[in-house]
Amino acid sequence: FLEIKNIRKHYGEGESRVEVLKGIDIEIEKGEICVLLGPSGSGKSTLLNIIGGIDYADDGYIAINGDKIEDMNEKQLTRYRRKHLGYVFQMYNLIPNLNIKENVETGAYLSDNPMNTDEILKGLGLYEHRHKLPNQLSGGQQQRTSIGRAIIKNPDLLLCDEPTGALDYNTSKEILKLIESINQKYGNTIIIVTHNDAIKNMADRVITLRDGEIRKNYKNVNKISAKELEW
Ligand code: ATP
Ligand code: MG
Repeated sequence: FLEIKNIRKHYGEGESRVEVLKGIDIEIEKGEICVLLGPSGSGKSTLLNIIGGIDYADDGYIAINGDKIEDMNEKQLTRYRRKHLGYVFQMYNLIPNLNIKENVETGAYLSDNPMNTDEILKGLGLYEHRHKLPNQLSGGQQQRTSIGRAIIKNPDLLLCDEPTGALDYNTSKEILKLIESINQKYGNTIIIVTHNDAIKNMADRVITLRDGEIRKNYKNVNKISAKELEW
């Protein structure tokens, strides 16, 4: 479903040049939950951004269902991002003067058949809060809102960059379970960067990055020990 081939990326030039990704190869099957782990600076966000078409690789390609992102013109790329991709960030990035329902609805832009907003709000436990503004909600509720915004178009691919990074452990676990239930219900392929160990029970694949290189790529994570998963 998703092919990540020989992705290389650097930032800066001359003395300040850093090789952030040094040839990343990953294949992800449709409907997988894939977890990316690795120390700070190992290139996790950079890789997600390249997959999401919001940053460019120096070399290699990303293909979804055989379509290479780099072959798309600007219009096609915009369409791909808005129609097929959902993004969830650590900081929820909600629009402060739109209520919860309106924030979720902003995610439906350009979708041919967005899901029913009220159903999504109910599934996320936000229905009774739908008329509130983001600053009237807890961090966990705000993150659920941003997940609603990402999934309302039922994206083929959901990219989550430390979605629980700003939340306490138990709220984080709830958010991860919610992401798992979305995957089970809608079959979206999900790539998630998280350090929360609760993810180990839900991941189909775990990839560890270090210094811009893949260190490990595990399928069937439940068959391996926690020790092996350490980066
Ligand atoms: P973290 O766990 O802290 O979020 P990460 O694994 O997501 O780390 P990246 O954000 O991908 O790491 O960054 C990888 C490297 O690339 C870092 O050394 C970072 O400083 C550098 N970098 C990232 N974005 C840029 C940019 N726009 N310009 C210059 N350097 C960048
Ligand atoms: Mg990051």
